[in-house]
Amino acid sequence: MMEQQANPKQQDRLGALYELSTRLGTTLDLGELLNQIMDSIIQLTGAERGFMMLYDELTGALNPVAARNVDQKTLDGSSMEISRTVITRAATTGSPIVTNNAQEDDRFAGNQSVVGYQLRSIMCAPLRARGRVIGAVYVDNRLFTGVFSQPDLDLLVAFTNQAAMAIDNARLFQRTDQALARRVDELSLFQLIDQELNKSLDLHRVLGQALDWAIQLTKADAGSIGLISEDKETKERYLRLLAHRGSDDHTPHERVPLTHPVLAQVLATGEFVSLHNTTPEQSIDGSAAAIQLAVPIRREGHVTGLITLESQSTSRSFNQDDTAFVARLADRAAVAINNSSLYEEIHRINDAKSQFISLVAHELRVPMTSIKGYADLMSKGLAGPLNDQQQNFMGVILRNLDRMSVLIRDLSDINRIESGNMQFELGRFDLHLVIKDVIGSLREAMASRQQTYTTEFAPQLPDVFADRTRIGQVLTNLISNAHKYTPDGGHITVQTIVQDGFVRVDVADTGIGIREEEQEKLFSQFFRSEDSAVRTQVGWGLGLSIVKMMVEAQGGQISFESQYGQGSTFRFTIPVAVGNGE
Ligand code: ADP
Repeated sequence: MMEQQANPKQQDRLGALYELSTRLGTTLDLGELLNQIMDSIIQLTGAERGFMMLYDELTGALNPVAARNVDQKTLDGSSMEISRTVITRAATTGSPIVTNNAQEDDRFAGNQSVVGYQLRSIMCAPLRARGRVIGAVYVDNRLFTGVFSQPDLDLLVAFTNQAAMAIDNARLFQRTDQALARRVDELSLFQLIDQELNKSLDLHRVLGQALDWAIQLTKADAGSIGLISEDKETKERYLRLLAHRGSDDHTPHERVPLTHPVLAQVLATGEFVSLHNTTPEQSIDGSAAAIQLAVPIRREGHVTGLITLESQSTSRSFNQDDTAFVARLADRAAVAINNSSLYEEIHRINDAKSQFISLVAHELRVPMTSIKGYADLMSKGLAGPLNDQQQNFMGVILRNLDRMSVLIRDLSDINRIESGNMQFELGRFDLHLVIKDVIGSLREAMASRQQTYTTEFAPQLPDVFADRTRIGQVLTNLISNAHKYTPDGGHITVQTIVQDGFVRVDVADTGIGIREEEQEKLFSQFFRSEDSAVRTQVGWGLGLSIVKMMVEAQGGQISFESQYGQGSTFRFTIPVAVGNGE
């Protein structure tokens, strides 16, 4: 065929080769590229039909990947056997082939018996990229319509050299793209898993969740998860199975001894163990399975637990991806497990502390009530007249009783707030009245130290919405601190300001102030300044922490500003009641 058209068309075909070659780089989609290459080859060689085979990157098998004017059935059938033999030869030897009678060509003599094979002119060229043959292309013509010659083959080889590079690039891109997509999928999955695992601090939930993910993503049939635990009495360590998924008729033993062969191996190596056809005795959770995988949960280099997965299907196995995935999941679960164990421990200790405090508070309150009752009676002379010294002593006893009852009240308050048992009776009220009441109750104490005060009240203050008694307690704490920590003759100002749906109360004093380095500890429980002016005052360092919790529990905020030696201002906010026209 080439022979007949060669010279007049030579120029055109070189032009076409150039044009088709430059188009090769325009797509990175492998399927599209293969089709484009086949079309170009047909166009360039003027062949009647053709196909391309590529080596599978994983299996190494040579598979047809694109064809023109030959359907898959014909391609697979015996009539194409010689064609496949020729192309296979081109692919394995890496040399191009042109033949006009494959049946009589010595190279393909083995196929002479093929029945019904028509004589054809055949060309094959290997696809060579980066020094290796990645496949080959095949084209043919019936002998009476066109015979291929060496220049046709040269043209085909020139084009396939370019095409092979484009195929290799597209495959590389596809591989990278797929690997990236898998990684992105895995990362977003792990993000979700992290979120789910860390959402709950409930250990059983975390373990169940981790196990469910492991089963779902490895397509296992069953599994269990356990943690290494210690028997409180015997101090013996064992694996405690805490969650199990699988058939309902099998309940695994809760305790697996560390000497169990699979567990012992995981503990010794820190690596996963994979088993086939396990008997119930061999398996960690006592169930027979076609395949089992035991993956350690590790924390700071130690095995702290185990995830086991099972499948009853002999036709599958847990592959590298599965084990790597479960190992990564186990790492993440370890963090969440640790968090929830710590949380449970803290919760348990906190509960014990709360119970202890409420017991002590109750046990102290009863005898103190009676001590205070009798002391009051005696100091009022109802049990007989007291001399001056006795009166003095009774005063000391009563003051210390007050101190103790403040401590008991504060501790009980903290306990109630922390355990979520503090009740707030919310309602609307006039804050100015509460401030006046509190100042009234402290007026005498302030006067005894020649302290003066002013109030700067916002005009038409709207009602606030909070617990009146608790706000009274907050104000008492702040104003009495201002009084306690302000030298004789100092001044205290209480101001109210309406601000963005809140009333802000400022309690300012001209007192001792707070050193900068102590300011951040101010709201911590039991914090008291080392300053001697503070230590001479009665206090436990609990007032401000209670004030902060109470303000925040009622929707407000608290802050302060202080200059050492000059004074302090404490500010807190309370929500305005709705329907105030605010
Ligand atoms: P307490 O008054 O019983 O010590 P608080 O929790 O009310 O406990 O206060 C904690 C500490 O904060 C006080 O001991 C004191 O050092 C400091 N403090 C609180 N209010 C003031 C204030 N108005 N001026 C200076 N220091 C203060």
